Amino acid sequence: MQITICGTGDAMGVPPAFCDLEVCNADAKRRRSALLVEANETTILCDCGPDVKAQLRATETKAIDGVFVTHFHHDHVGGIDELAAFVPVIGFDIHLTETAIGHFERERAHLSDGIEPRPIRAHQPVEIGAVTVTPLPVTHARPEFETVAFAIAADDRTVVYAPDVGRIDPDVSIPSEIALLVVGGDRLFRSDGGTDSFRKIIDPFAPERVVITHVNEWWLGKSTSELRRMTRDAGYELGEDFQSITV
Ligand SMILES: [Zn+2]
Repeated sequence: MQITICGTGDAMGVPPAFCDLEVCNADAKRRRSALLVEANETTILCDCGPDVKAQLRATETKAIDGVFVTHFHHDHVGGIDELAAFVPVIGFDIHLTETAIGHFERERAHLSDGIEPRPIRAHQPVEIGAVTVTPLPVTHARPEFETVAFAIAADDRTVVYAPDVGRIDPDVSIPSEIALLVVGGDRLFRSDGGTDSFRKIIDPFAPERVVITHVNEWWLGKSTSELRRMTRDAGYELGEDFQSITV
């Protein structure tokens, strides 16, 4: 399975509005969160934020077999309009939670002629070609907003994509032997967070490898090299856009 982390930025992206990379002390751009999964001729996109068109172009993606959205916040779904016209042309479905479908129907009524989102439910696997995607409920945001992580399995390997995650409920059934966890990690760097607080989130996954995403140098007030050092000291890796990982 080939994983491409198409965006490692937070809701604002890096650099955010009114800044440039130098002001942020950032080495490179961070687009909004997205993950591309390729396995045995099946291509899945997780999340379609406002950078989706540039991300699909940069990865030279010519077709996808399904889109899965973690939650209906702008940075994860704001590019849905960019994909809408291609749903019937390429022939893929967009998979949303019931709550996200409600948002879609209210906020994107103008797209509903072309798209009929497919509902996804916690712990119910969806098979698309060679890839199985299972939504795992997580807590996220104040006020709390229905959000899932995705366990993505192919070739007997499992990757978990959890870009926005505050806590894992003990009753969530987490798959065993997770080869890679791509996880939102701003908590690791915040003064009210730290390594112990971050470990509470990721330890239940018991992953072989952890790549941190959903970060913003400007917002955190730390340079890329500082974030990289803190991540390494904690035993993890700081992600970068278009990093490709064979799992
Ligand atoms: Zn969010």
